[in-house]
Amino acid sequence: MENRELGIYIHIPFCKHKCYYCDFVSFSNKQNLVKSYIEAIKTEINEYFNHKKILENFNVTTIYIGGGTPSCIDSKYILEVLELLKNKLKNNQTKFEDMEITIEVNPGMVDREKIEMYKKAGVNRLSIGLQSTNNKILKEIGRIHTFENFLETYNMASQIGFDNINVDLMIGLPDQTIEDVKESLNQITKLHPVPTHISVYSLIIEEGTVIEKLIRENKLKEMDEELERNMYWYVKNTLELNGYEHYEISNFAKPGKASKHNTNCWLQKEYIGIGAAAHSYLNSVRYANITEIEQYIIRMKQLDKQVIEDILNLSDNSIETNLKEKIKPIYEIEEVQTVEDKKKEYMLLGLRKLEGVQISKFKEKYVDNPIFLFRKELEKLVKEDLINIDGDYIKLTNKGLDLANLVWEEFV
Ligand code: SF4
Repeated sequence: MENRELGIYIHIPFCKHKCYYCDFVSFSNKQNLVKSYIEAIKTEINEYFNHKKILENFNVTTIYIGGGTPSCIDSKYILEVLELLKNKLKNNQTKFEDMEITIEVNPGMVDREKIEMYKKAGVNRLSIGLQSTNNKILKEIGRIHTFENFLETYNMASQIGFDNINVDLMIGLPDQTIEDVKESLNQITKLHPVPTHISVYSLIIEEGTVIEKLIRENKLKEMDEELERNMYWYVKNTLELNGYEHYEISNFAKPGKASKHNTNCWLQKEYIGIGAAAHSYLNSVRYANITEIEQYIIRMKQLDKQVIEDILNLSDNSIETNLKEKIKPIYEIEEVQTVEDKKKEYMLLGLRKLEGVQISKFKEKYVDNPIFLFRKELEKLVKEDLINIDGDYIKLTNKGLDLANLVWEEFV
């Protein structure tokens, strides 16, 4: 039997400065904890990969180092973590060199030495957070870099040999105009070489962020929804005209360059999250690490093999388990899925992808035909023109792309 594919996510929760829209788990004043945090990460990796069931039953195919800002810590730590993984994975089915290994970097927080070190450590994909090419907007949203910093980082990475680079952009920002979005796309698509991947996220105003406060106090104006949608469609059309495939609500890639790590998550494949606030999905259990860095460091000292063993020994039907209580001191269990939960979730995740849910794949995985299983929901969504059924695929319509939340709600 083929080993199950597994992704590894590593969370680096340090940032130099908190962006005004950010509600990710990241801290700008805890750099003094970096060293002990990395030690805790290594402990967690060791516990997972000292475990026979992980080593023998899984095939790790992707590693994703995200944050926070992984590039704001000394690159020797990234090297240490990846060297440990390389060592642990020496008998892994997919060779370390053939895995997709991504690191997120922020312009202005990397230099040549760091990027060279990432390459040496085995990283083969960079994800650069730009958000906009307009320096005034960057300042307004609390980014610490300029467009010129981005160009410097991008060109340096290309020269060093990174040929698989994602650029993150944002739309729906206060004061942003369609002209700004046009200008950002224009600048990005004329880079040499062009990025292989572009992610475009709509601003979500999260409670407790600086932006939310400024909007509440009428110091900034929230974007009107219609304008934000116009931006989205402008981005979609422009990037498609430039040879990018729109493969997920917010993601565009040159052929063959879709993010394997994220695509596997949308295909409901398993992953383990290492680090504070990291989420995992293993053996039908969704669970999360504590968000406080200090607590995470303390808890990792108590982590032992038994915790992971308990998750791995859980069978699909043991929903009655006392697992939650047993492993609570280390991980917070979010969901122990039944087969029925998994089928619904497969639909929800699959409908994030533009190609949609492949009916034959669903049948292969779950035996049932989703058309019959979700007949009521699908009929309703087809009637509302939010999805269509196109041969072997159930997918979002153009209207569904704008109202995807209504589609996903049917499968929660
Ligand atoms: S760099 Fe990213 S994680 Fe850090 S504060 Fe900004 S948006 Fe948040």
